[in-house]
Amino acid sequence: MLDAGFFVRWMAAAAGLVDREAERLTELDSAIGDADHGSNMQRGFAAVVRTVAAQPPATPGAVLVAAGRQLISTVGGASGPLYGTLLRRAGKSLGEAPQVTAAQLRAGLAAGVAAVEELGGATTGDKTMLDALVPGIEALETSFDAAATASEEGALATVPLLARKGRASYLGERSIGHQDPGATSSALLFAALAEVAR
Ligand code: ADP
Ligand code: MG
Repeated sequence: MLDAGFFVRWMAAAAGLVDREAERLTELDSAIGDADHGSNMQRGFAAVVRTVAAQPPATPGAVLVAAGRQLISTVGGASGPLYGTLLRRAGKSLGEAPQVTAAQLRAGLAAGVAAVEELGGATTGDKTMLDALVPGIEALETSFDAAATASEEGALATVPLLARKGRASYLGERSIGHQDPGATSSALLFAALAEVAR
């Protein structure tokens, strides 16, 4: 069973990986966006870690709702509201249970992804974060490690895709041949989850 402490450690591990990879995320975003994805994610996850450390939420759902709120309020780019919606909706779907199973987490994240699709109007194959989130969540059925691998593969598989949503879509054909920054950061969230589960 996964308790609130596990979710706080997940957010801290995500912030650590985002910090470590911030330059790379920004580099990817400079090729097909506006070169701010690394700093957006850094600012957002630093705020998440500060918030949950200052007022540790009592339940897994409350950790994710608080994290989502912080991302929405601190990240200016498209990714803030999208990641914020993902975590907030996932947290709401976990309700007030003090502990949740991996299967419940998976169902919660699936609800979060549905909300991201609704908000952003994208679907898998559009070269967005969804291309790492969807396979990651699917593979959570097997294990946390499988989810990390599947989301990483999903991020790599965005390279040949044509961007259909977000800033990268303004480039049309020129978006082909570059890895999507948001899919890359989504894979970090699953890597952090696998790290904490180990
Ligand atoms: P911005 O594009 O506003 O500068 P970021 O650089 O922080 O925001 O995030 C860009 C990432 O957001 C993209 O790489 C993509 O993965 C994701 N993204 C953008 N628009 C959408 C959308 N409509 N649906 C899902 N993900 C999106
Ligand atoms: Mg950007």
